[in-house]
Amino acid sequence: KKSVLPDLNVMVDGIVNGSVKELAKAITFIESNAADHYKYGQDLLQKLLSHTGNAIRIGITGVPGAGKSTFIESFGMMLCDAGYRVAVLTIDPSSSLSGGSILGDKTRMEQLAKHPNAFIRPSPSGGTLGGVHRKTRETLALCEAAGYDVVLIETVGVGQSEFIVRSMVDFFMLLALTGAGDELQGMKKGIMELVDAVVVNKADGANKSLAEKTKREYNQILHVLQPATKGWESKAYTCSALKNEGIDMIWTMIKEFRQVTEKSGVLIERRRFQTKEWLHTLIMEKLKNQFYRHPYVKEQIGQLEQDAMNGDIPPSQAAEQLFKQVYGTETI
Ligand code: GDP
Repeated sequence: KKSVLPDLNVMVDGIVNGSVKELAKAITFIESNAADHYKYGQDLLQKLLSHTGNAIRIGITGVPGAGKSTFIESFGMMLCDAGYRVAVLTIDPSSSLSGGSILGDKTRMEQLAKHPNAFIRPSPSGGTLGGVHRKTRETLALCEAAGYDVVLIETVGVGQSEFIVRSMVDFFMLLALTGAGDELQGMKKGIMELVDAVVVNKADGANKSLAEKTKREYNQILHVLQPATKGWESKAYTCSALKNEGIDMIWTMIKEFRQVTEKSGVLIERRRFQTKEWLHTLIMEKLKNQFYRHPYVKEQIGQLEQDAMNGDIPPSQAAEQLFKQVYGTETI
């Protein structure tokens, strides 16, 4: 079945002029696995490349229940009311990853979703890692071309997802809960070296003083670690996403981060490096697809798996046999 693709120039104009309808359509093409959609998405990206790069890219991570969607709603509303256009690449509320903190989690960011300056795009449920999709980078580029000033990317820390988001954003923050002691025990320490700020949420009511204490504990840890961004001291903050307290402070801090890193050249350097990483990610993905879709590999892999598991052949030799057939040469 051959689908009719929309006129490329109409799409490009629509996106650049801020049409949410065209943007949403374009993202659907980018995410599609159909060959003609893929090609179309690539052509679109190519034409839009010169319009990208103008947003502040912010990554937000935190365990389910930390208050990510509440925070993004408060933070996003504040920015949208101030006239900024805000795009949110978020976790699909129907996915198990969202944690389903409340029944009917569909109400995530309900208010923000209605704001004319906001664009919210949940990750497709398939192929996501902590809410990050393999096309999140491309989607970010499309949002920038559509003129969004701030792009927020949300993830729950699953596997490599924090590293992936870190490799796409300018500023990366951990939304944390009080009682860092416990949380830090269970948390992969590595994440503390990735973040530009830790924001202890739910600093309200009876929880306020505990939140301050947690903030101090995080600061002690951050103080002894390598900063995630050269020339920027990562610190801990408190806020209440629910009561809308301390949210403006976070924005002030991010603007300062932007200023400092722009001036020092660290921002440009980071983005150049990220683009290089993006290229290599794509190469790896293509190589992998090419290899596993090769007829010989498809035909032989099952048997070779069995042989290797049964100890009849070393895995290295099984791999070598496949590579020789696919690429015709010895490989290392
Ligand atoms: P997410 O899973 O990280 O997106 O967390 P949610 O935003 O869904 O929040 C989980 C629960 O914590 C919800 O019941 C929120 O109402 C509540 N919550 C979020 N932020 C705050 C806060 O600042 N203070 C308080 N007291 N509760 C909050």
